[in-house]
Amino acid sequence: MSDANEVDVAVIGAGSAGLVARQQALEHGARRVLLIEGGVYGTTCARVGCMPSKLLIAAAEAAGHARGAAAFGVEVGELRIDGAEVMARVRRERDRFVEGVVRSTEEIDARDRLRGWARFVGPQSLSVETDAGTVRVEAKAIVLAAGSTPSVPPSLEGLGERLLTSDSVFELPSLPGSLAIVGCGVVGLELGSAMQRLGVATKILDIGTRMPLLVSEVMQAEARELFSQRLDLHLGLRELASEPVAKGVRLRWTESDGQTREGVFDYVLAATGRRPQLARLGLEAAGIELDERGMPKRLDHRTMRIGTSAIFMAGDITGKHAVLHEAVSDGRIAGRNAARYPNVRARVPQVELGIMFTEPNVAIVGKVPTQAEGECEGEGVEWSVGEVDYRNQGRARVMNQAHGRARVYAWREGGTIFAAELIGPGAEHMAHLLAWAIEQRVTAQRALELPIYHPVLEEGLRSAIAKLAHALSLSGEPRPLDCGPGN
Ligand SMILES: Cc1cc2nc3c(=O)[nH]c(=O)nc-3n(C[C@H](O)[C@H](O)[C@H](O)COP(=O)(O)OP(=O)(O)OC[C@H]3O[C@@H](n4cnc5c(N)ncnc54)[C@H](O)[C@@H]3O)c2cc1C
Repeated sequence: MSDANEVDVAVIGAGSAGLVARQQALEHGARRVLLIEGGVYGTTCARVGCMPSKLLIAAAEAAGHARGAAAFGVEVGELRIDGAEVMARVRRERDRFVEGVVRSTEEIDARDRLRGWARFVGPQSLSVETDAGTVRVEAKAIVLAAGSTPSVPPSLEGLGERLLTSDSVFELPSLPGSLAIVGCGVVGLELGSAMQRLGVATKILDIGTRMPLLVSEVMQAEARELFSQRLDLHLGLRELASEPVAKGVRLRWTESDGQTREGVFDYVLAATGRRPQLARLGLEAAGIELDERGMPKRLDHRTMRIGTSAIFMAGDITGKHAVLHEAVSDGRIAGRNAARYPNVRARVPQVELGIMFTEPNVAIVGKVPTQAEGECEGEGVEWSVGEVDYRNQGRARVMNQAHGRARVYAWREGGTIFAAELIGPGAEHMAHLLAWAIEQRVTAQRALELPIYHPVLEEGLRSAIAKLAHALSLSGEPRPLDCGPGN
């Protein structure tokens, strides 16, 4: 073994979490940090995740605006969607994002990068399969930032190139005529909502009946209603089988009422979740306790350290949230602690934030209680909720998007806002406002004193918070309209 491969910190995976972990390890005292990447540079986010999906959604929004223009007396003529150009723009812009990440990754000194798949051969020893042969790496601390990969259920295996995942869908030369999406999670609904608006005959199938992110039954019902109006949803399936046919895929499924149906689609997209990329890592050799799925049993999410080992985790590989800002936050603390090992420190937890970029938008902030209103949460803490229906909200009506609902939650004792769930126009932005308010420990009463412009969608939130304050008995009556139609 050469000295060159003895490092302070080895980071496995040059994705968003790994790149941040590397940077933070250097900033917190590690002298030699080695970044190991087995696949391509460019990150899941830029290559096949956040960015290409939002580019497709942006095209869908353009189509949606054109379709909805007539309601305002604006004629745009016959709508024609050039599928090849839609996909070409997705890739063109996506490639710009990827190029930027690849360039900055390649700017890292070549001695501090290793291309190859890493595998544990001891608690602080890795073996890396490079093009030039096997390289041994000894590290004082290791950050696992190996990401996740789409999982495909057995019922969809054997479909060849007609089976898509989020890794391959953005490579389609043009928009398909028809698409079945198996999986009604965030990825399935985002891509389904976009494809449908882009004129693709889209069907979404799932064995479950719950809509993603939202917790309360009120919001579940609202989401099911709004998405069923816009999408061909088949939830609560009992069985699903698939077979390849000429130029497509035949799916056969049993609906929740026991009826068997079938359909032929150009493609089927598996959106049935992602699994942590553990297979290649050989964690058995790392000297840490693993559960039946091969996941470390004792990951401390405050320090990102596994048990008392010198191994840290960050990003999708943790199997926790699979969202970018959490991957970055994990990478930050894992990198710092790997550099400071064994003197690790806990991070200050951030309020949880989840967004689904569908039409309508869905968002969740904080931990929404699962019990009925007013019941004890955890150790006897009680809460109240305030709700607003966006069907009569001023700005939403102006925009011809008068639909949706928001619920804001606060602790009875003290009135601090701690969670919210939203569906409707602008939810992605209002969720940020609420997340910042929760981080600042704003009470319902205080929130009512903060400025809100008129007429904006946030006035709806204020109505929900006014009802919340009323439920908390912080004010005598629900707050009346302040400045005109809008709330
Ligand atoms: C379709 C889609 C849409 C999404 N949209 C959003 C969104 O809108 N907002 C949001 O917040 N999040 C979104 N996400 C999630 C987000 O993209 C991920 O949470 C984030 O990219 C994960 O980063 P990471 O660093 O953990 O993993 P990655 O970026 O996947 O990096 C892991 C790296 O590790 C490498 N690797 C794996 N094993 C080894 C090994 N043994 N040796 C060496 N290298 C290895 C891999 O090749 C990979 O490059 C989306 C995801 C998808 C799929």
